[in-house]
Amino acid sequence: MAHKSESSGELAKSVDFTGELTRALEDEQFFLVYQPEIDLRSNAFVGVEALIRWRHPQRGVLSPDEFVPDLESSGLIVAVGRWALATACAQGAEWHDKGFRFTVSVNISALQFAWSDFVNEVEEVLISSRFPAGLLVLEFAQRTLAGDITDRLNDLAELGVRLSIDDFEPGQSLLSDIEVLPITIVKLDRHFVATLSDSPAGSELVHSLVDVAKKSKLQIVASGIEDAEQRKRLQLEEVGVGQGFLFSKPHEAADIDRYLEDFSIFSGKPL
Ligand code: C2E
Ligand code: MG
Repeated sequence: MAHKSESSGELAKSVDFTGELTRALEDEQFFLVYQPEIDLRSNAFVGVEALIRWRHPQRGVLSPDEFVPDLESSGLIVAVGRWALATACAQGAEWHDKGFRFTVSVNISALQFAWSDFVNEVEEVLISSRFPAGLLVLEFAQRTLAGDITDRLNDLAELGVRLSIDDFEPGQSLLSDIEVLPITIVKLDRHFVATLSDSPAGSELVHSLVDVAKKSKLQIVASGIEDAEQRKRLQLEEVGVGQGFLFSKPHEAADIDRYLEDFSIFSGKPL
């Protein structure tokens, strides 16, 4: 009995929370922050990753871990993800209009990708925002890329957008498929980067991950770089691009503008 009332309590809470999330979208409480991606060799500013936040009226700013799982279980992620993609592309177009040339990466949830109209939506957003397709990177979790998705990924790649695996972890069955999929970028998860500080075993693990990616001719972006030692080791592994608190935390677009002004070398210098 106790279990029953607990679960109905949970249900009531989740229905309530879903209502709050629906209102949050309507009331424009979601916003995006952007985290710089840096070329590890030249220090060039080569991109940003868009990350969602929720300015909750009572609880303050919430991180994705606190609400994205609920967006996914309620299906609201399809609408919120559409908003995030459109917002990131509009912002990317604004930077592009100012003469900056760097990529904007957007996280795509499994449900959003499964949505039948996803490829058309991406195409429409590119047209309406006028953001160049070649500067848009779509990041997918590895588990999203299961089943019969080759045609849809090819359709996306044909739009000119670049496709990335967010939490690259070889050894899973996907690896053999990567070469036949139009994936060009893999992100090295920050948990692997963190192991670089821990032990020689961590370095070996990262070495083998990088090796696999290189053999498949994939560009590697290391995330969660927090200190100079991690950066140095990644450079020794010839990892091209890095992202992490060592360079910058995620910031709102206006702060990224200021960061760009201050940044001594960046690829996106106004032309
Ligand atoms: P992710 O795609 O792996 O994003 C990287 C996460 O690592 C971000 O957390 C970022 O703030 C954090 N991070 C970056 N550098 C460092 C560092 O040096 N140290 C540490 N400790 N953390 C670092 P965040 O913003 O909380 O996002 C968490 C996850 O939420 C993202 O992981 C992504 O899977 C998801 N997410 C964020 N925005 C969206 C979105 O618009 N749509 C969807 N579907 N998922 C999103
Ligand atoms: Mg990501």
